[in-house]
Amino acid sequence: MTDHPRIPLAGVLGHPVAHSRSPALHGYWLRRYGLKGHYIPIDVAPADLPHVLRTLPQMGFVGVNVTIPHKEAILQIADIITDRAALIGAANTVIFRKDGKIHADNTDGTGFMANLRQYATLWDPSAGPAAVLGAGGAARAVIAALIEAGVPEIRLANRTRPRADALRADFGAKVVVHEWNMAGLMIEDCATLVNTTSLGMTGKPPLHLNMERLSPDTLVTDLVYTPLKTQFLLEAEARGCFTVDGLGMLLHQGAPGFERWFGQRPEVDEATRQAVLSA
Ligand code: NAP
Repeated sequence: MTDHPRIPLAGVLGHPVAHSRSPALHGYWLRRYGLKGHYIPIDVAPADLPHVLRTLPQMGFVGVNVTIPHKEAILQIADIITDRAALIGAANTVIFRKDGKIHADNTDGTGFMANLRQYATLWDPSAGPAAVLGAGGAARAVIAALIEAGVPEIRLANRTRPRADALRADFGAKVVVHEWNMAGLMIEDCATLVNTTSLGMTGKPPLHLNMERLSPDTLVTDLVYTPLKTQFLLEAEARGCFTVDGLGMLLHQGAPGFERWFGQRPEVDEATRQAVLSA
């Protein structure tokens, strides 16, 4: 009997999942490097997640990304959870190991940081406090990454205050919680300003932040990437700030999974951005 090597399969599990840009990203990389493999969107209802995750490896899947609403639930199912995924309380990258174990990692924080390192080459995270808007899952990854990068203080504001307080409890005294409606005050003298809320995204309400105290030396970045240039970034640019959009974070967070599943470290460059934007 001939032993046919299996073509590796990967995908993104979400609910809904049609909006995900990950299939365009991984599909582009597969074509670019001439690799055998497929990456597909898979809509999975929350109740089906444990069963689907145990079944996919039998079908030839080597791993998956998980997105909303599965990012937290995956930690209850995985056999091995990286320290950073445990700290963040969510995972986005899953590897189905040959020994049958499900390995869960979170690459959002490294993706966030790689995006800033790529585009804001003069940015020094240790130069001053960082102001973070929002305290959801993405904020947890961003705060973990900022602390690791040596940011001296994180000023955090979230509409629902207890969520911000929970982040302070988890990440420690470097996190200082500010009132959501006073966020315009906390951005003064910051080296970094990050929007991690979904405000400003196409179809969501706008982000209203008083930027009068924003210094032109502050690096400003938005996790929202639809539109690519949000009103938040446009206002910061009008004040002389250097800005970085959120698309690069999406591209960089996908790279470690692609490398593990398909055996090739992918390039995150202008061609990758254009491939995802034009998909
Ligand atoms: P999440 O856990 O649902 O958190 C959403 C955040 O937005 C919370 O802080 C929430 O505040 C806030 N928010 C939502 N509606 C609001 C409103 N009307 N007024 C004030 N605050 C509001 O979502 P997430 O996973 O953290 O994702 C947040 C954003 O980041 C999304 O737009 C997502 O697409 C984006 N993201 C981008 C990347 C990337 O690669 N660029 C990666 C991950 C996430 P409350 O706590 O008060 O509800």
